[in-house]
Amino acid sequence: MRAVSLTMQRPIPWLWILLAMVLLLAPGPAGRFLLDLLGGLTLLVLLLPLLFGAAGVVGWQLLRRRLRTCSACGFTSVGSAVCPACGTPFAPSPSSSTSSGVPPSVEIPASEATIDVDVVDVDDAGP
Ligand SMILES: [Zn+2]
Repeated sequence: MRAVSLTMQRPIPWLWILLAMVLLLAPGPAGRFLLDLLGGLTLLVLLLPLLFGAAGVVGWQLLRRRLRTCSACGFTSVGSAVCPACGTPFAPSPSSSTSSGVPPSVEIPASEATIDVDVVDVDDAGP
């Protein structure tokens, strides 16, 4: 009697389990839709941090390309021609003035200089 009363107090939701199994295992459109939904949700949850990370990196790169630091006071602003703090006109950024006639030899990256050193023949330099 006691066991029967226990099972009656805690009924197992067979109806919902059966419904879920039917929905999941049924080859019908409802089961497929549910499986697609679950797969899509799982994919979304897995890919969302990656997407946010990539978007953040791209956004930061775009922002940093437009960032300008004042040479007079060090104020950093985005997308303005003059410093909003002291009014000094910003120097043209190197990325936007590559086609306007500034010689590229002003700023040589350290990696390119290292490559030039590596190209030099060792046999000619030796005694
Ligand atoms: Zn300034």
